[in-house]
Amino acid sequence: MSAHGPDCVRALDSLYLFIDRELDEASWDEIHAHIADCEPCLTAFDLEKMVKTLVARSCTESAPAPLRDRVLTSIRTVSIEISENTYTEHSFTETTIEPPRD
Ligand SMILES: [Zn+2]
Repeated sequence: MSAHGPDCVRALDSLYLFIDRELDEASWDEIHAHIADCEPCLTAFDLEKMVKTLVARSCTESAPAPLRDRVLTSIRTVSIEISENTYTEHSFTETTIEPPRD
């Protein structure tokens, strides 16, 4: 296996763009062909992809509990407001989608 050449530098530089598919088709194909043939780049690609997957997963796993409570609280609040006032369906939808504030 040869040392990292210019192709490797290019592939590793574009790794995030490659994973996110934010490259144009020609560049993506070129890097894909290189990574498929180059073990160090393939290893780097696998690691980056794994890290991204883990980060994405831990974000969705750590958020729900407090977020769900807040959403449930705001749904309850809105329900009370609806029973006390006459709210249109439009304002109900807006209130429930609005992200909770700190
Ligand atoms: Zn390479």
